[in-house]
Amino acid sequence: MAALPYIVGNWKMNGTRAMLNEARAIDRSAARFPKVQVGIAPPATLLYRVRDAVEVIGVGGQDCHARDNGAFTGDVSAVMLKDAGADFTIVGHSERREYNRETDEHVKAKAEAALSAGLAVILCVGETEAQRDAGDAEAVVAAQLQGSCPGTDGAADKLSVAYEPVWAIGTGRVPSVADVAAMHKSIRAQLVAIYGSAGADVRILYGGSVKADNASELLAIPDVGGALVGGASLTAESFLAIVGAAASLGAD
Ligand code: PEP
Repeated sequence: MAALPYIVGNWKMNGTRAMLNEARAIDRSAARFPKVQVGIAPPATLLYRVRDAVEVIGVGGQDCHARDNGAFTGDVSAVMLKDAGADFTIVGHSERREYNRETDEHVKAKAEAALSAGLAVILCVGETEAQRDAGDAEAVVAAQLQGSCPGTDGAADKLSVAYEPVWAIGTGRVPSVADVAAMHKSIRAQLVAIYGSAGADVRILYGGSVKADNASELLAIPDVGGALVGGASLTAESFLAIVGAAASLGAD
């Protein structure tokens, strides 16, 4: 049976308690779209409260440390995310790779820590504009997958990959349909090479300037199993329009 489309909101470093109303509104409406899996990743400070405020949607972290506990000031472990009620965590977001100098090795260790804490994982990969212009996009993403996919037994069952071209994040620019299709096909081949037949079922999300007006086109591309949404996930109205687009595609 095909997996449900998965639409995940990444709130990044946005949100105080006032945003709980958006979480509640997303949750209430998501209940009307049972054929779409919906999640939001609020900042860690809101995780526990969002968990309490919602009933239907998944709740996740935006990152985790690779160790369970210890002298790592300011960090949050996967065990702590799980304890706060998280279902999943994002790892390897390009903003973490860039601003926190996270390597594939770090990302792999984080993904493995998350899986061992009982969380599902959304692993982000994507090329910079210079890498795409140089014709290296698929090779860059393949290397990221080889270096950062978790090696834990059964990892593929709890893993989603988010293809997020760095140059498309928060810019309003999106790759062509043909480029997204080619990249998702290449990612699928890598996942099968890494995980064997289990790699065929890993959901591959697209992320980067997904909005209500381009969601239907992007979600209809072969092997696009959902979307990781930044800016447009910050209000229930704009996020639910994307959830609705996913639901309409599934209704055919
Ligand atoms: C993201 O950062 O994961 C993202 C997809 O952001 P945006 O939708 O704002 O481009």
